[in-house]
Amino acid sequence: MGNIIENEEFKSNLQQLLQNKKFKRTLKILYKEKQGQLLSVQSCEIIDHFDTIRQRLDDKHRTLYDSFEHNCYIILDLEERKRWFDQCKICSTKMKQEQNKLHCPNCKQNTESKLAFCLRVRIVDVNSQDTYDAIIFEEASHYLSLNGKKISVKTFSDLSLNSQNNILNEANEKKSNIIHLLQLQLIQKTENFKIKKIMPQKTE
Ligand SMILES: [Zn+2]
Repeated sequence: MGNIIENEEFKSNLQQLLQNKKFKRTLKILYKEKQGQLLSVQSCEIIDHFDTIRQRLDDKHRTLYDSFEHNCYIILDLEERKRWFDQCKICSTKMKQEQNKLHCPNCKQNTESKLAFCLRVRIVDVNSQDTYDAIIFEEASHYLSLNGKKISVKTFSDLSLNSQNNILNEANEKKSNIIHLLQLQLIQKTENFKIKKIMPQKTE
């Protein structure tokens, strides 16, 4: 039959659980109820909320392999000269030069390649002002613009260094004070963040 718990007791136990935790939490719970009594809990899920990226990095049961969303400013780095790379068309891995041919270390053969953006940026956590290194890949073509239009990596790579810098500069001037909701993922190897997606701005 299981235990039948008075709803009031259940609620106060829940409150204790929520207050005990380090971070603000939401409990999503589905239960059956009959005449003010809890009959059974069908499913229970604790959803963590993180105010800062630092809290997420410090969390013991961190799930950084998964991507997460956070509000940040983006500042493009104009010093970094490596702004694109040859990407394997099959698996998206960075290709390597071997005997004047491009070789995919993942597919282990000379696959076809295409150019892909990799722009180095600093992201600033809106809630803590902490800054982190990050890289934008394909999202860069939406973030940068030339004459008001988005720009392909091919077009960008054909421009002079000066023209490229103008585009990056312009993006910084226009957008570095805008709060972007970013879908981020930590790259374990480098401890940099990958900007997987720049989410559409919410309009009130
Ligand atoms: Zn490949």
